[in-house]
Amino acid sequence: MSTREAQPLLSVYHALKKCHGPQYWWPAESPFEVMVGAVLTQNTAWTNVEKAVTNLKDSDCLDPGKIIALPVTELAGLIRPSGYFNIKAKRLRALCVWYIEQGAHSQLSQWNTTELRSALLAVHGVGPETADDILLYAFHRPVFVIDTYTRRIFSRLGIFRDDLPYEDLRLNFEQALPTDSVLFNEYHALLVSHGKDICRKQPRCNLCCLERICINPGFINRQSSGVKYEDFS
Ligand code: SF4
Repeated sequence: MSTREAQPLLSVYHALKKCHGPQYWWPAESPFEVMVGAVLTQNTAWTNVEKAVTNLKDSDCLDPGKIIALPVTELAGLIRPSGYFNIKAKRLRALCVWYIEQGAHSQLSQWNTTELRSALLAVHGVGPETADDILLYAFHRPVFVIDTYTRRIFSRLGIFRDDLPYEDLRLNFEQALPTDSVLFNEYHALLVSHGKDICRKQPRCNLCCLERICINPGFINRQSSGVKYEDFS
């Protein structure tokens, strides 16, 4: 995507920020807590992750060494509220083993982003979205996270097809936008907020700050605004 094509993405960002305000992500007290949350949030709502993280904290187990020392069944019991707890216990344990073997955050933070992303993707249970959550929110790397909300909102806006491969979408954002981890942090958080509250599966287009430029609003006539995507760029 060319620089000229960055303008729609920046315009969407500014509209969302004006609508939803600053998001202050990621909701965690340490980089390691971000990593734990990134695994636990797979296929579940954040409220369930919060309960699981609280269990880990209350048991004094939110620590990579302590997680590894726990029997997997006990770990699974603590993170039960996050769903798929047996699978996630194995994934969390694998991530902790890798994290300790590599020297934890102080060592990993010295790796370049490409190496770190490749290494994360090689850890059991870490896919692209989880790896990019960790890179952006635990290591402050300028990596754009793609999730269900991003696909839904940008396909409805007519900017990207929702069936594009993850890497294609990620690179589209990263190549169009300024390379800025603070911008990417806030943009992803805003998309999650908008996807949860406004552009839901059943969208609330009458409340949407993007309605003017959306080519596929759910409950309004496509032609009602008279403004096309081309007018927005
Ligand atoms: S106008 Fe409707 S479909 Fe379009 S982005 Fe807003 S909520 Fe989603």
